Amino acid sequence: VKRLAQRADYDHATIDAILDEGLVAHVGMVDDTGQPFVIPMVYGRDGHRLLLHGSVASRLQRHLADGAPVSVTVTLLDGLVLARSMFHHSVNYRSVVVLGTATAITDASRAASALERIVEHLVPGRTAEARAPTPKELAQTTVLEVPLAEASAKVRTGGPADEADDLGLDVWAGVVPLSLAVGAPQPAGDLAPGIPVAPSALAWRR
Ligand SMILES: Cc1cc2nc3c(=O)[nH]c(=O)nc-3n(C[C@H](O)[C@H](O)[C@H](O)COP(=O)(O)OP(=O)(O)OC[C@H]3O[C@@H](n4cnc5c(N)ncnc54)[C@H](O)[C@@H]3O)c2cc1C
Repeated sequence: VKRLAQRADYDHATIDAILDEGLVAHVGMVDDTGQPFVIPMVYGRDGHRLLLHGSVASRLQRHLADGAPVSVTVTLLDGLVLARSMFHHSVNYRSVVVLGTATAITDASRAASALERIVEHLVPGRTAEARAPTPKELAQTTVLEVPLAEASAKVRTGGPADEADDLGLDVWAGVVPLSLAVGAPQPAGDLAPGIPVAPSALAWRR
């Protein structure tokens, strides 16, 4: 991290905490024609490995499984920072950038447990409730791992950093906090009557 390097953190605990709270990873790669793509995906984490999955038919999955360099970023937005000057407006955030190369997990049992990790990352407790993938479903899915060897976190907290000359301006300054709102679980339209709401759905929090 070069700009505002004091906001950088290379500690695994910080990086892991941001990855564990995030839900969407933006996965960037350059395809064979030189065209960069940044694609949103869900993900999971297993120790120092980031886990991704998708259809075997997906161009992105095939390209990454072939060993293309990849950059993955996860961002949590914590607030809007309103300064007295337009220049010093900012956002409070926690973000991670991972650089590396993805590898396809070809071993069926490792791939299955990586998929469980991804599901558990999204909805803790869900793998104990839902049907496990069949061999056919596993064969339709590419599971990739990206080592968290080259990764950085960047974090901004606190209020606006206005110029001393602007502190006397008659302009409100401060932070509008942002967080993810969780709604009440909505049953599927074709749910059989009498099935109670899943504990994992009731327990979901951020
Ligand atoms: C929150 C979220 C989570 C997702 N999680 C996963 C996941 O875990 N695994 C997975 O395989 N897919 C996931 N998707 C879908 C994913 O973003 C891609 O659409 C998909 O993987 C691309 O498949 P492809 O390689 O067949 O398409 P491509 O051949 O890569 O895409 C064809 C073209 O479609 C456009 N395109 C592709 N994806 C998107 C998009 N999401 N939004 C707008 N335009 C797009 C691009 O211009 C691209 O050139 C997720 C999407 C979202 C929004």
